[in-house]
Amino acid sequence: MTRLLLIGPPGAGKGTQAVRLSEAYGIPAISTGDIFRSNVKNETDLGKLAKSYMDAGDNVPDSVTNALVRARLAEDDAQRGFLLDGYPRTVDQVRELDEFLASDDTALDAVVEIVADAEETVARLRLRATEQGRSDDTDEVVRHRLEVYARETAPIISLYEARGGVVKIDGHGSIDEVTDRIIAALSARGLAVPVQ
Ligand code: ADP
Repeated sequence: MTRLLLIGPPGAGKGTQAVRLSEAYGIPAISTGDIFRSNVKNETDLGKLAKSYMDAGDNVPDSVTNALVRARLAEDDAQRGFLLDGYPRTVDQVRELDEFLASDDTALDAVVEIVADAEETVARLRLRATEQGRSDDTDEVVRHRLEVYARETAPIISLYEARGGVVKIDGHGSIDEVTDRIIAALSARGLAVPVQ
């Protein structure tokens, strides 16, 4: 039973690592960004609401995101643990998650921050823009997402640090190297044990 958070700036590689960690620990990777993108694609009401915020690089309103995550965490597969990617990303979302975990009498095992410098992350997002054509990977929107990250999300890292620790992982290097670093760091601290 492992409950993890993955935090890091846009382009740090959270989504890529989330898929691998989900396999390693046998837990579902829950990415709010992916859930929103699939809703946009399927033109659901949620997708219609989220689209304008996402295209502008702004956070979707907390009330919407919190309700979504609450429902997702109540699903069967999340009872055995989970990896949250891209949530929480505001102080309000941290409070909501705190409440959810407390009501379930559980706690997080680890908060993992993938650290990468802006030069690297912006270069990766540029590459992704040409490969995948994500509507929020244009230079202007990326700049804004980085600002939103610094303003809204960086403070939650301090908040978790004050509570006793954030496992900081160097996000540079190959995908495999970063995965190995995360798993090794969590094992060394006795925070999470891979199932495979
Ligand atoms: P990245 O972190 O690389 O910018 P994500 O896929 O995590 O990309 O998120 C893409 C967009 O989806 C965000 O810019 C935002 O509009 C929306 N989003 C994702 N997660 C959240 C969240 N927890 N709260 C509010 N908005 C979110």
